Amino acid sequence: MKVLKSAYSFLLKEIFIGHALTLRYFFKKKVTINYPYEKGPLSPRFRGEHALRRYPNGEERCIACKLCEAICPAQAITIEAEEREDGSRRTTKYDIDMIKCIYCGLCQEACPVDAIVEGPNFEFSTETREELYYNKEKLLANGDRFEYQLRQNIESDAKHR
Ligand code: SF4
Ligand code: SF4
Repeated sequence: MKVLKSAYSFLLKEIFIGHALTLRYFFKKKVTINYPYEKGPLSPRFRGEHALRRYPNGEERCIACKLCEAICPAQAITIEAEEREDGSRRTTKYDIDMIKCIYCGLCQEACPVDAIVEGPNFEFSTETREELYYNKEKLLANGDRFEYQLRQNIESDAKHR
């Protein structure tokens, strides 16, 4: 046995096996991607950065019912609301503390008008904590930016809800 092991060492058997393995995978389809230049597919149910959506006429969807605030297990959402002159109820403040958020998606599930959603964006890391305290303007801007993708995701997932 010792002689055999010595012979294998002398003939560099492990090195040849290693090279053969490398060569085999060299011609196979790559399983890694060159992030951030290439990105993998995302599920329509992916829970990324939050966004507040509008109707096509530009009106905010949110009716300030506060269901999202009530259901949030992390108590990350803070809403203040008041009645408008036309009698509709709208938020005057809609904050999400993205540091507290656990990305459970319950706010999205609770919303009766598909106003608050978790979008496809996962690249929102910041250098300071303060930048992760989102206000209504930031959330609406996210909604405007990702509306096409958000609508597609909601439509493709509708039959499963
Ligand atoms: S995803 Fe969950 S934790 Fe985050 S704001 Fe919505 S309900 Fe709260
Ligand atoms: S985002 Fe939806 S659930 Fe939250 S207050 Fe507005 S309408 Fe209600």
